[in-house]
Amino acid sequence: MGYFVLIVPCAACGAIFSCNPERVPSIRIRGAREAICRNCAERWNQLHPDAGNCILPGAYDPIAEDGSDLSGWEEPEEP
Ligand SMILES: [Zn+2]
Repeated sequence: MGYFVLIVPCAACGAIFSCNPERVPSIRIRGAREAICRNCAERWNQLHPDAGNCILPGAYDPIAEDGSDLSGWEEPEEP
């Protein structure tokens, strides 16, 4: 089985990192969502403790080639 990740520069600090593009936390810059690295996401969590954890399970993990993520987490269904 193969794996893939998205490799991008962090929109906040510029560090190059890998992530799951469907799970990675992002910030809006000039109307577009841009991914942020784990360090910046953890810092955001520290600055905004009442907003909840912005880091979804598997956000920085590879994705299996069949599209399944490896975290075991499933998106909650809409009510
Ligand atoms: Zn960063």
